[in-house]
Order: sequence, then C-alpha cells, then structure tokens
Amino acid sequence: MQQQATRETKRREITNIRSHARSGGGIPLRVEGVSKTFISRGRSVEALRPVDLDIAAGEFVCLLGPSGCGKSTLLSIISGLEDASSGRVLADGIPIQGPGTDRIQLFQEAALFPWLDVQHNVEFGLRHAGVPAKERAEIAHKFIDMVHLNGFEKSYSHQLSGGMRQRTAIARALAINPAALLMDEPFGALDALTRDRLQTELELIWRETRKTIVFVTHNVREAVALGDRVIVFAPRPGRIVRDFRIDLPRPRHLEDHDLVDVAAEILGVLTEVIEAQEEEERHGASR
Ligand code: ADP
Ligand code: MG
Repeated sequence: MQQQATRETKRREITNIRSHARSGGGIPLRVEGVSKTFISRGRSVEALRPVDLDIAAGEFVCLLGPSGCGKSTLLSIISGLEDASSGRVLADGIPIQGPGTDRIQLFQEAALFPWLDVQHNVEFGLRHAGVPAKERAEIAHKFIDMVHLNGFEKSYSHQLSGGMRQRTAIARALAINPAALLMDEPFGALDALTRDRLQTELELIWRETRKTIVFVTHNVREAVALGDRVIVFAPRPGRIVRDFRIDLPRPRHLEDHDLVDVAAEILGVLTEVIEAQEEEERHGASR
C-alpha cells in the first residue's frame, strides 16, 4: 500500500516536471490567521501575531521589515518547514501538510551539494524524482541557460562566486518546476553589483515562468524594484502593518525617479514603525 502511494507520488512528480514545456506558472497562496510562538529555554517569544495574507497566482510579493519581525518565520511556515502555532496556509486552495515540491524555499547561503558540480546540482531533484538521464540533462541545460551559467556545468561550489552559487540554487529550484519560489534574502550576502544583476535576472525569470514568488528582504529599494506588492512588517511581536501595491512599469531600474519616490514613502512608514517600537520599549523600560 505504502509502496503504491510512493509510486503514485513519484509518477505525479515526473508528470509535473515534464509539464515544464507546456506551462510552469504559479499558484495562489493563502495565509489564514497564522501565528507563531517559540518556546526556548522556558521563555516564550511571540514571533508572529496572527497574519492574514492572500497572494495571487503568479504574483511577486516582497516581505519587508527590520530583522526579528517574523519574515523568515512566516516564509518557513508557508514552505512547510516550520509549523504554525495557529492558523493555516493554503497552496492552490489546499491546506499544506508540510514541505512539498510545489513550494521551494531558497536561502541567503545557496546550500549546494559540494560534492556535485553545477550540472548535477541542478539535476539533483530530477534524479530523485526518477527522471531519465537524457531528459534530466535537457531540463538542466534549459535552466543553466536561463541563469546564464553556460560553461560552468562542470564547476564545483567552491569554484563559484556567491552570485554564481545563488544562480545555481535558482536553477536547481526551477528544474523541479515548483509553483512557488519562497526566497529568504537570497541576495543579502552578495556585493551590490552582483545583487543588481541578479535582481534583473530574477525579474526576467519570473516574467518568463510566471511562478508565484514570495521574496523576503530588509532592503526597501530591492522590494520596490521587484514586488507587485510590498508587505511591511513590524517587530515584537512580528506583524503586518502595511500592504503596498507597486504599480510601476517593468522592467524597473533602481535609479528610476518613480521607484526612488515610492521607496522613500515606504522607508518613511518603516522608520515610523521602528521609532514607535523604540519609544514603546523606552516607556516599558522606565515603567
Ligand atoms: P526575521 O526573518 O524578520 O529577521 P525571524 O522570523 O527570524 O525574523 O524571527 C522572528 C522572532 O522569532 C525573533 O525574535 C527571533 O529571535 C525569534 N525566533 C526565530 N526562530 C526562533 C527559534 N527557532 N527559536 C526561538 N526564537 C526564534
Ligand atoms: Mg530572516
């Protein structure tokens, strides 16, 4: 019975991967009353106060806020790597039960397999799903091409720059045809130039694949350059304070006047949030 179920899952994974050529495309994500309280060393930390969030299929949503406001926690709950204390997440209308190949999370440090070259890193998920070698190579080629890593197929992680490692991680994620990419400060460790280039490339990849993207950042301009929406978080406890719709035309450039204006407005809101928090804590301390 179990074996049959596993075979059925595998068959569905392969069918999904093979549908690359036809569609790709994103799914809607719905966060309903999701909260998270961590208990560590006898103390409880309210990382997220109940959050509601509706993300449309193919939407690019940025989660923005200072560190400690629950962005990573929410992203990990959406990916299924972390359980919510209350509430639930629906992916394409179905409550998630844990991690799945429909939602892939990417981190600041691209966790490549150091014993595999770029080609085999990108093929990894396909191999696991049982996709035949020739087809694996074709799919890997398509995504290595998409992230501009042609010529580096045989390079290992330690031979790549940070940007190239992150490109490999993006190709590896795309290869298994997830409907949603959940990106946690993926460009946070890169130099400014590489970061700019990868932002531009990610926007192009998103336009080509129409995946749903949830992108965590504490960089206001990055959020405004990429997002259809920018969701502003406040800390202690982590919560959503504003939901900005960014109607600027694409492709966007960091130096565009309109972009700079919108970023300034959002930065204003963010500054108010942080100042209000500091004020509250000062009062708390003097009480
Ligand atoms: P962000 O990504 O916005 O910086 P996080 O989601 O990482 O914020 O963290 C939100 C809050 O939850 C912080 O106060 C953090 O210290 C706390 N936190 C996160 N993960 C854990 C954990 N595993 N155990 C205890 N506290 C945690
Ligand atoms: Mg974080």
